[in-house]
Formats: sequence, structure tokens, C-alpha cells
Amino acid sequence: MKYDLCVIGAGPGGYVAAIRAARLGAKTILIEKENLGGTCLNVGCIPTKTLLASSEALRMVKKAAEFGIETSAPKINWDKMLDRKDDVIEKLRKGIAGLLKSSKVEVVTGTASFLDKKTVMLSASGKTIKADKFIIATGSEPLVPGFIPESEKVITSTELLAISKIPKSLIVLGGGVVGCEFASLFAELGTEVTIVEMMPTLIPGQDADISAALEKELTEAGITVMTGVPLEDIKATKKSVSGKVGKEKITADYLLVSIGRKPVSDSLKPEAAGIKVSERGFIEVDERCRTNVSGIYAIGDVSGRIQLAHMASAMGMTAAENVCGKQSTFRDDLVPGCIFTHPEIGTVGMTEAQCKENNLDINIGKFFFAGLGKALAAGETQGFCKIIADANTDQVLGVHIIGPHAADLIAEAAVAMNMEVTAKELGKAIHAHPTLAEAIMEAAHAVHGDCVHMPPVRKK
Ligand code: FAD
Repeated sequence: MKYDLCVIGAGPGGYVAAIRAARLGAKTILIEKENLGGTCLNVGCIPTKTLLASSEALRMVKKAAEFGIETSAPKINWDKMLDRKDDVIEKLRKGIAGLLKSSKVEVVTGTASFLDKKTVMLSASGKTIKADKFIIATGSEPLVPGFIPESEKVITSTELLAISKIPKSLIVLGGGVVGCEFASLFAELGTEVTIVEMMPTLIPGQDADISAALEKELTEAGITVMTGVPLEDIKATKKSVSGKVGKEKITADYLLVSIGRKPVSDSLKPEAAGIKVSERGFIEVDERCRTNVSGIYAIGDVSGRIQLAHMASAMGMTAAENVCGKQSTFRDDLVPGCIFTHPEIGTVGMTEAQCKENNLDINIGKFFFAGLGKALAAGETQGFCKIIADANTDQVLGVHIIGPHAADLIAEAAVAMNMEVTAKELGKAIHAHPTLAEAIMEAAHAVHGDCVHMPPVRKK
């Protein structure tokens, strides 16, 4: 059977691309070696957020008395938390399968590798599939460098999501998004957590105010945060794992390695189709998701662009539309980033440091959640919203939020920035009261010193 399109990998990039292309009329086949939903649904976004929802419930029960609700001491049932996580995954997998079926996408299981530009082979069966066009969406996997010993005490996010018992202690190697989310989760569940990050701040690359605020909050939550230092001399025994941070030796039940992810491109044999692969294994693409080989596209984590599920899906839509004869491009300068720590983080656009590097003249407005009625009512007053605007045009260049529901709040900023709004326009848009979204309106007013819910800015 010959297809118009063959999509390889059914993560948030691949399955979205397959559905979009099929609905645009392409005869489409989707090949997946493991589970529908890819990393995101099976060992990434969804399982972490489901477990974090349980830890959020625990946090609420712990402070219920503050709200006038008397409870007995909460007990954690880890097995039940894992079961709930698996139920959520299963429901969503079925949902994707249903969407694929109703969109007439044929799905096959197997590991695909290229034989030539128009043919792939499924490794187990040896079956070949021919198509006019291909979209590669094979994603990424955890990066574990050679200096880290192999041991059941040394794990990645994938193993930690299914661990049989809550660890008593955990060293998190790498204070990026994944490391900080797991640190936040397990600290709430009672694990003694130490984060070791080689760069000077947590979540390197974020706005410095956000990183500093996160470090303060995680430290207050009882997490030991060590930044600007490497973890060296890592040793694992059957019972524990240890390492050196400067002169200090640290030991824990487990070491979580969360220092990044590498592309999954080897098994695909891209060289057989003449596809160019970077030294690090990424399949590079242009703004229409085209590789160097005509008719072959790549999307999501394997393309070396921003490694986020919504980015993969946006690229999937773009590639599918191009496959079907439309002229479609994606942009990656306004991709919202969310970090599901406690408190949450949501950011979009440029950081203050990036504005300075680009010699941009800027104005900054900041509003703290402690000044909002809704935040006080909910007992979630940590954090702030920071808005950066161009001093000459007033266009909003960056919005950085740390605080309650920041990951949901950032959507407003992303839409506004896509529409190139000014800080004045954002502040003028009436925001409902009492809501957490008022923080954005107040911060927008603060850009010009016009925020009435903050003391007046003293003129210099
Ligand atoms: P993937 O989701 O990795 O899917 C690729 C698929 O291709 C896999 O199913 C794989 O089995 C299959 N495959 C690979 N090779 C072959 C082959 N040769 N033949 C057939 N099939 C193949 N992102 C967010 O936006 N928000 C979050 O909150 C978030 N949390 C995360 C938490 C964790 C712990 C992790 C690890 C990641 C998280 N991410 C999050 C990142 C997100 O999961 C990825 O960016 C996203 O899954 C990438 O999608 P993708 O479609 O490119 O690849």
C-alpha cells in the first residue's frame, strides 16, 4: 500500500500532524514503536502533572486548618497516586486512538527505519511502507553522560515516575525544568531533596528575578539548593548513591539525572534517505519544518527546537499543512514556557538580560500576588508578575510570572504579545475582579508607574 504521508512517532508532534494531514485529505499512516502520546503523555507532561495534582491536594489538606477546616493528619497512598496517574494516561491514550480512527489515520506498531527517501521498514516484522512524504517526529530521551555510573540507584525521570516507594532522600542532578518539578513534588511528599546545578542559577536561561524567586521558595520548602557547582565523584552502592559538591559529600537513596534530553534519531537510519543530522543527532529544519531532503519534514524534540509539547504540536500542524500544499510557517520567539513547581512559573518572550544584550531600552512593571484579593483568599500569595516593555514603542517584549496558576495565566500574555500589544493597551483591558489575572493588568499599569494598588513611585 502506498500512502501520501507517513508520520513516524506518535507524540504530541506526530499524532497532531497525522490528524491534521488526514483531515486535509492526505492518505496517512502513523508508525509508533511504543505508546500513543509519546513522551508527553506516557513519561512526561501528563504523569508529572497528575502526580503534582496529588501533591497539591496534600498541600491543601495540610493547611486546611488555616481555612477553618479541621482534618486528621493526611496519609499518603503512593500506590493509589500511581494508579490515578496510570488511569489518566490510559484515558488520554484512548482519546488519541479515537481521534486518529475517526480521522481515518492508519496506525501501526513498530520501529521505523528508512530504506530510501520514499520507503521505511518496520524492524520487527520487516514490513515496508512507501509514502510520497514523511514527517519525522521521533522525539527525545533522557541524556545520561558516561561519567554517571550505571546503577538502579541512578535513575531518570522515566523510572522516577514509576518508582515503587517514595524515596526518603533524593539528589537531583540538574536544576532545570524537569529537575525542579520533581524536587517540588517529592519535597511535598516528605523526601529530603538536594538539587545540584552547575550553572549559577536554577532554570538557567529564565529571567533572573524568576530564578532567584524560585530558589528562595524551594529553599523555604526545605529543599537544599546548590548552584554554581558540579556534582563529582558519583558512586552508587546497592543501598545508596553519593557524590561530592566541592569538599562536601552528599548521599541519598537515589540520584535523579535531569541534565537534558537527546534526540531519538539513530534507530531511524536517516542517512539511508540522505537526511542531514547534526553532530548531536538533531534533524535540523527551516521555518516550514523542511529537512534538507525534499518531501521529508521533521518536528518536535528531534528537530532541536524548543523541547516542549505545544511546540511539537505547533510544528506538527505546520508540517502537515505544508505536506498538503499549504504555505505554513511556525515561529518560536513567542512560545510560552511553564514550570509546574510550587509556586508555578509561566513565561513568554524576552528576559531582562536578553533585552539588555540586544541594547533595547526598556521599562519594567512588577506586581506582587500578595497585593491581590483573590491570591489572599486562596492563601497563595507568593510571587509576582513582571512585564518588560520597549521604552520607545511600549510594545510588550516579555512577561514572566511566578505564583499561583502562572502556567494558566501566561496564555493571556502570549496572545497579547502575538497581537503586538503595548503595555498601555494590556493595562487598559478590563480584567475581572477578584481574579489572579489582575496581576497582569496591574503589572502592565506599573510599567508606567500607574498602578493604583501599589504605593506611588517616588520621582528621582
Ligand atoms: P515525543 O513525545 O518524544 O514522541 C516521540 C515518539 O516517537 C515516541 O512515542 C517514540 O516511541 C516514537 N519513536 C521514536 N523513534 C521511533 C521509530 N524509529 N519508529 C517509530 N516510533 C518511534 N513539555 C511541555 O510542554 N509541558 C510539560 O509540562 C512537560 N513536562 C515534561 C516532563 C518530563 C518529565 C519530560 C521528560 C518532558 C516534559 N515535557 C513537557 C517535554 C515534552 O514531553 C516533549 O517536548 C514532547 O513530548 C515532545 O514531543 P515529540 O512529539 O517531539 O516527541
